[in-house]
Amino acid sequence: MPVLVNLRLLAEEPAHLEGELPAAACGMEYRDELIRFDEPLRYELDVERQPDGLLITGSLATSIACECSRCLKPFRLPVEIPELANLAPLQGEEAVPIEGDFADLTPLLCEDFYLALPANPLCRPDCRGLSQTASARDSHLEGSPSDGPSPWAALDKLKL
Ligand SMILES: [Zn+2]
Repeated sequence: MPVLVNLRLLAEEPAHLEGELPAAACGMEYRDELIRFDEPLRYELDVERQPDGLLITGSLATSIACECSRCLKPFRLPVEIPELANLAPLQGEEAVPIEGDFADLTPLLCEDFYLALPANPLCRPDCRGLSQTASARDSHLEGSPSDGPSPWAALDKLKL
């Protein structure tokens, strides 16, 4: 179910939208082996008509299934955008999709959500990575950071 706002009503007064966007509505386009979008995206939005577009404020929240990019342990991560603020144009290349009287805010919300996702999810900020190899790597790194491949280089290879 897309997030739609009635433009005709919006011309008269701001709209308040609340609901859940199913995981499938956003998750299909997001391809990252370490992140799975499997819970609905909860939204609470205020939409206001402005001369040059729609002013959208509010919040987004959900939780995602991740694998730690260092130790590969699965974990869940809450993702929240508590103060969303977005001006969505109604015309031009960046315009929100419009059908009849309704503007579809779904792609916009998905995009904001993607931007809030971690590039390298970690089970905890100080995760040491996989036990043995990681401790060897860590002592290596602490000795001299420029010496030898970084754990990130190894990860990049893994991703390929
Ligand atoms: Zn970890």
